[in-house]
Amino acid sequence: MYEKVKEHLIKEIKDIREAGLYKEERIITSPQQAEIKLNTGQKVLNFCANNYLGLSNHPELVKAAKEALDTHGYGMSSVRFICGTTDLHKTLEKKIAEFFGTEDTILYAAAFDANGGVFEPLLTEEDAIISDSLNHASIIDGVRLCKAKRFRYANADMAALEEELKKAQSCRFKVIVTDGVFSMDGNVAPVDKMVELAEKYDAMVMVDECHSAGVVGKTGRGVTEHLNIRGKVEIITGTLGKAFGGAVGGFTTGKKEIIEMLRQRSRPYLFSNSLPPIVVNAGIRMFDMMSETNDLQDQLHENTTYFMEKMSAVGFDIKPTQSAICAVMLYDAKLSQDMAAKLLEEGIYVIGFYFPVVPKDQARIRVQLSAGHNREHLDKAIDAFTKVGKELGVVK
Ligand SMILES: *Cc1c(COP(=O)(O)O)cnc(C)c1O
Repeated sequence: MYEKVKEHLIKEIKDIREAGLYKEERIITSPQQAEIKLNTGQKVLNFCANNYLGLSNHPELVKAAKEALDTHGYGMSSVRFICGTTDLHKTLEKKIAEFFGTEDTILYAAAFDANGGVFEPLLTEEDAIISDSLNHASIIDGVRLCKAKRFRYANADMAALEEELKKAQSCRFKVIVTDGVFSMDGNVAPVDKMVELAEKYDAMVMVDECHSAGVVGKTGRGVTEHLNIRGKVEIITGTLGKAFGGAVGGFTTGKKEIIEMLRQRSRPYLFSNSLPPIVVNAGIRMFDMMSETNDLQDQLHENTTYFMEKMSAVGFDIKPTQSAICAVMLYDAKLSQDMAAKLLEEGIYVIGFYFPVVPKDQARIRVQLSAGHNREHLDKAIDAFTKVGKELGVVK
């Protein structure tokens, strides 16, 4: 039997390669941080990590993780409701709720699981989910796992959302769901408008803050802070795997009855292992740091503004963004790949994206800024972009 499967897979993989969609992995041999080392021996500056606050190798978080090894050991060997809940898990859940100004929080192994497990316990075929067309794969999968009726609107298009809300009017419960920041353009979803529409059409709002939490809003509390609607969104999902230390882990935070029901019925929570204490304790330390100072957010904002201004001055076409994602538009798939390769030769690690990851003719290099970058790193990147940009005729 396997011979047939093997033949089929070899052909499919070949097709993926020929379409130019085969994903290679670069191998890093240092900790994740602004300057990383590759297995080729090359040292490069990393501008493609989700390490927005530069916390992935922060000494305080490494220390907190080591401390937890001594106090709580390595693994939990259980799901939460059997014997996988420690005092640390309860503390972290409380701190996440404090951070977002929500009522309660439930942890997951990943945000992928938080999104995968949020809809099915709450909604049935009587209900409706109205989802942005550019929402993350984990939201799309979560929606698929539940029987609610599905409605979709064009990215961040509030007139289109209103049309879908009208179509969904006869449904019992309605949830509007969106990413807080969309990962390719870095645009913030107009969640304030969604809240208004939700009031008008009697719906709830759910925001996935994976790319926005820690990053947007004056103190990094995410889009609800940025748009001045704290407490007005019923469900927030997020990750510990991006700005918040970058290890692993996800959460859903929001109305307490919703969280209580998820603890009873959410399948990725009930049937998957509890987060290890090292990750949980580092998370606690991280939220303590966030509550003490705003320095990292300020640094990130300063770095993003500096980079975008300098790159625009050189002549690059930069998408306006309020996040730490900076899309350098090239409009040509091959150019995006050539440019990323040449930038790597110059010691700058960035990724070029093209169709189908972004719309046709919208190829770009996505630069992700970090509070962990210093001025020298930023200048080196800008100089490399300028040099390579001139070589390839992108700028004069
Ligand atoms: C990264 C991401 C996720 C998945 O987060 P993990 O914790 O790595 O599973 C979910 N939603 C969005 C919008 C993301 O960007």
